[in-house]
Amino acid sequence: MPTSTLSVSRTILVVDDDALFRGLLEKLLHQLGHRVLLAADGEAALACQTADLPDIVLMDVVMPGMGGIEATRRLRAMNGRLPIVLISAQGDDDSRIQGLSAGADDYLYKPLKLPLLQHKLARIEQLLAERQQLDGAMAQLRRNASVFDVSRDGMVITDARRKILDVNRAFCEITGYTRDELIGNSPGQLRSGLTPAAVYADMWQTLHTTRHWRGEVTNRHKDGEVYREQLSISAVHDEAGEITSYVGIINRINKLRDDIVTGLPNRHQLAERLNRAIARNRRRQGSLACLVLGLDRFSAVNASLGHAAGDLVLREAARRLGGALRACDTLIRSGGDEFTLILGELPDSLWVDDLVHDLLHGLAQAFVVGSESIHLSASAGLAFHAGGSAQPGDLLQHAEMAMRAAKALGGNRCEYFQPSMREEVLERRQLSEGLRQALDLEQFFLLFQPIVSLESGKIRKAEALLRWRHPQRGLVGPATFIALAEQTGLIHDIGCWVTRQAIAALPALRERCPEFQVSVNVSPAQFQAPAFAIDVHRRELAAQGLPGSALVLEITEGLLLDGNARVRERLHECRSAGMQVAIDDFGTGYSCLSYLNQFATDYLKIDRSFVRHLRPDSRELSLCEAIIAMGHSLGLRVVAEGVETLEQHRLLRRAGCDFAQGYLYGRPMSLPDLLDLLQQEHEPAGSIGNRERLQASRTFNCRLSAS
Ligand code: C2E
Ligand code: CA
Ligand code: CA
Repeated sequence: MPTSTLSVSRTILVVDDDALFRGLLEKLLHQLGHRVLLAADGEAALACQTADLPDIVLMDVVMPGMGGIEATRRLRAMNGRLPIVLISAQGDDDSRIQGLSAGADDYLYKPLKLPLLQHKLARIEQLLAERQQLDGAMAQLRRNASVFDVSRDGMVITDARRKILDVNRAFCEITGYTRDELIGNSPGQLRSGLTPAAVYADMWQTLHTTRHWRGEVTNRHKDGEVYREQLSISAVHDEAGEITSYVGIINRINKLRDDIVTGLPNRHQLAERLNRAIARNRRRQGSLACLVLGLDRFSAVNASLGHAAGDLVLREAARRLGGALRACDTLIRSGGDEFTLILGELPDSLWVDDLVHDLLHGLAQAFVVGSESIHLSASAGLAFHAGGSAQPGDLLQHAEMAMRAAKALGGNRCEYFQPSMREEVLERRQLSEGLRQALDLEQFFLLFQPIVSLESGKIRKAEALLRWRHPQRGLVGPATFIALAEQTGLIHDIGCWVTRQAIAALPALRERCPEFQVSVNVSPAQFQAPAFAIDVHRRELAAQGLPGSALVLEITEGLLLDGNARVRERLHECRSAGMQVAIDDFGTGYSCLSYLNQFATDYLKIDRSFVRHLRPDSRELSLCEAIIAMGHSLGLRVVAEGVETLEQHRLLRRAGCDFAQGYLYGRPMSLPDLLDLLQQEHEPAGSIGNRERLQASRTFNCRLSAS
């Protein structure tokens, strides 16, 4: 242990209520070449730490007002690295233990002797050196990939301008972003807006002066969820004292019991609350229900108005739900846009019906955020606790299944759990097994549905629609399996297969009609996936001597609303490859034409639900007219879906719609059938094999030209 005098001059804060002792210590320290600050109690010491930033603190344990132990605890919270030496009477072991656990680094005894003081200060100097070394070591972490990457703490290194240089795996897991999405950006992108500005101000000020800061911040996971984390930051500097980088270590504070946004209990409390309610209910022999409520299309609010607006909506939704509840009910925020209600002591099922109706009605009222008025709805699933046997987990799962059923039925409704829903789950499991093998066993095939130009009445395009020849179930339509393929990730391989098949069909089609286009449906997950190989498809087209424009990708509006950078990039890639993009099912989602403006798209497909009710003077007609006009003003061509009658055809044509698709012109058909149909169009009097089709086609064309 070195006992020599210190080579460096330090600023040392002496805290003691005894003026005589203070004076003595001041003199000794001056002799040793240090600068001395004086304080008479704990409070004065805290003030001094903030104002004068001492390097070392020497502090008496027993003082009137705030004593040395409490002051140590507070100083430690303010600055984790400040060396604190407590001074006590010899033999006072209790306060020594207390002081060390409050964060003191060492002890001195009264009466004070110069050699002992020198010795302690030398130790402190060593401690300071060690702490500085530790900072250096943190910067080394990046090079030492093994420690960096196995750590369960999230670690991030930024340069002096706070640009992220590197992160470890745990950091990615905690924040939800990939390494690529973080590097080069600022950690500011993780902020939730819920950490008080004062915390950041303190952080930067402390970092600037002491080079270390430790505290709690509230950040936002990539998927929008808000979480609290413990953050320690160290500023790393070079020999000249210039900050060269920052090292941050984060620890998610797990199982925070209350949701930060709404203040409600969160999902970590769900099981416990449910168990408690079930136990209570058993004692009272009452009945109990679990209601899961999901806000419909909530992600669009976050996407279009930002997370802060989303949080406001959630808070207001929580307030509305909470207002309708009794003391024996429990409201929990169980997920991003999901609330769970545990309803105890149920009077009767009618009462529950009314309550659910009121809750849904309440959530359907406009949410006012700033100048925006947002209309949302909710889907609810209800499951009753049927007495002793059922597990709490089952009850919850049943309510969630019912909620999903309500969503599947279009939302804004409540479904009661039924045992058949469980069977559905089993059935889905079987179906997904089959789906896994369907590609290998060549059970998929494409049908093509014609799309006609309303101007000429001629077939100009076709949409490729997928079918599955199931060994037991027979022909299965996409409505049965696409969602499943999306959930299981199989959609990527299936989608790629569809596109390849569609491309393979093009040469024959374009031989009959040179500008012919085939459109394929692309699922949102597929469109965003890195595996979605636009470039591969472009090359496949080129290999057939086809331009990119022979292919149209049909995507949904939701994809644009969730509009992240990747979607934008993807659209750009399509554009560079010459492919065209159609917005499918327009009108069913948010119908934000302003969004289309920002993205490179070519076609708008008006959803069938509008076309179905088209009549002169109907609301649907004005809607279609508006969509067509606005689409045109944005440079888009409009396709109407589901045209079944001549009247719909006429109304759309009159409204200026460009293309139409529907049973009126042709059902989804095999490629040879479509080729025949095209052949007839181009050689009406020629060598057509299929008399019936010719007949059908003639009447069809005749009807169209008469309209
Ligand atoms: P969609 O993109 O809206 O496709 C049009 C659907 O409407 C087709 O159903 C088509 O048969 C049907 N349809 C066309 N004309 C009429 C009409 O006049 N009246 C009525 N009532 N229906 C008409 P389909 O083939 O069952 O496809 C359902 C959905 O499955 C498609 O809706 C599409 O979203 C999805 N889908 C189909 N093939 C694929 C695919 O290869 N990949 C992906 N990701 N999704 C696909
Ligand atoms: Ca489509
Ligand atoms: Ca559609």
